[in-house]
Amino acid sequence: MSTHFHPSNTLVSWGRVVKATHLVARPRFTDEIGRLVRGFSATEPGLAVGLRRSYGDSNLNPGGYVIDMTALDRLIAFDADTGVMRAEAGVSLSQALQVLVPRGWFLPTTPGTRFVTLGGAVANDVHGKNHHSAGTFGASVTRLKLHRTDGAVHELAPGDALFRATVGGLGLTGVIEWVEFRATRIPSAEIDAQDTPFDHVHEYFDIAAERKDRYEHTMAWVDCMTGGSKVGRGILSSGNWSPNGELKAHQEEPKRKIPIDAPGFALGRLTVCAFNSIRHDLKTMRAGPYRQHYEQFLYPLDAIAHWNRLYGSRGFYQYQCVLPPETARDGTLELLETIVASGQGSPLAVLKDFGSNPPVGLLSFPREGTTLAVDIRNQDEETLELMETLDGIVASAGGRLYPAKDGRIPAALFQSGFPKWQEFRAHVDPGLSSAFWRRVST
Ligand SMILES: Cc1cc2nc3c(=O)[nH]c(=O)nc-3n(C[C@H](O)[C@H](O)[C@H](O)COP(=O)(O)OP(=O)(O)OC[C@H]3O[C@@H](n4cnc5c(N)ncnc54)[C@H](O)[C@@H]3O)c2cc1C
Repeated sequence: MSTHFHPSNTLVSWGRVVKATHLVARPRFTDEIGRLVRGFSATEPGLAVGLRRSYGDSNLNPGGYVIDMTALDRLIAFDADTGVMRAEAGVSLSQALQVLVPRGWFLPTTPGTRFVTLGGAVANDVHGKNHHSAGTFGASVTRLKLHRTDGAVHELAPGDALFRATVGGLGLTGVIEWVEFRATRIPSAEIDAQDTPFDHVHEYFDIAAERKDRYEHTMAWVDCMTGGSKVGRGILSSGNWSPNGELKAHQEEPKRKIPIDAPGFALGRLTVCAFNSIRHDLKTMRAGPYRQHYEQFLYPLDAIAHWNRLYGSRGFYQYQCVLPPETARDGTLELLETIVASGQGSPLAVLKDFGSNPPVGLLSFPREGTTLAVDIRNQDEETLELMETLDGIVASAGGRLYPAKDGRIPAALFQSGFPKWQEFRAHVDPGLSSAFWRRVST
């Protein structure tokens, strides 16, 4: 097996805190997958990875084997009448959109970046701004092909037990060769949007509840630097596909990039504070509704390549949790107050209400309630202590953390947050593992 795997330079995921060397293979054709996967075992486990947009350690297998799936990027079939697309697992959402949009189709849902592979979208059962109307990506998957390390190859469909484990299954149930999913019709590539400022997090809940039935897409930017009577102030963006406009796909490459690590002070408290209040002021001045191409509305961060370098060489964490409706108001307020008091918050705080759609996978992260996602620059002990305090609030509110964003969650919080994890464990392929899984499954 070792002849197919090459020692890599250090592999890092998006937050750049966890860095480790791996033995990496990058197959170019799908008929190579079976041979690579069969070489893994419980003592020498492997893991498939995509574009490494997960923030922490769920896509890392330090010291072990990794299959980089990104060269398996061929479209297998697309039916422009039904919108059903089948493509290799390394096809990115960005590539899929280049085919879908000009023909009047869009992804059923999309995370806040289009630089994610189909395999990664399934393995984290990703969600987007339209979770309350469309559910997760897994809800639109009609079939997928999975390779297990014992040589078994499965074509799975909704209803199969292994399908429920694989969607949201963090790459631990097998290596996905291709994914088939149902796209959504769009009348144009533009979104008719509206921004609504709010002065306190409690106001967010009132506005979001009122918007969710009228708008397909909703999410809010939240200032997590300002406390007191304005804690959790922000802007809620909502939008629907515009009936008018061209069916023009996005520009493939980001317009700007961060070429090197920013120095440690670049995203210091002052910068963050200024950034947030400028953003707040500008947005509050926007008059009435506006129209935006989906590239700007759905993927604002993709305009700058390698924006994760802004946090300097020590990297950053993203803390993303979801709290159930009963505890969401008080719990979110407490989380924001704690972050504000710590002075460690960043400009990239997002609030979003999830709908009541039943979860597709045993480990799917979204559940009915409110999700908060905050970037926190890595300052070692200080940062870990803050996140430990936040963990306590999430645990007593009956919430859970998102494995795709995590790099340090303790096993107990993972296990209480995902009550089906033992059922899931029965489907884990013993020849596959990750740093995340070793930490949370003990
Ligand atoms: C700017 C930004 C915004 C984001 N916004 C959102 C958001 O709004 N909603 C959301 O849900 N997520 C969001 N994410 C997280 C991202 O969508 C997920 O982490 C996604 O899974 C990353 O896909 P990837 O191709 O980079 O996979 P990786 O990060 O490389 O891997 C992710 C998981 O998929 C597994 N995997 C990958 N390919 C395969 C395969 N072929 N077979 C089996 N397993 C496989 C890996 O083992 C790993 O467990 C965001 C990330 C960024 C950087």
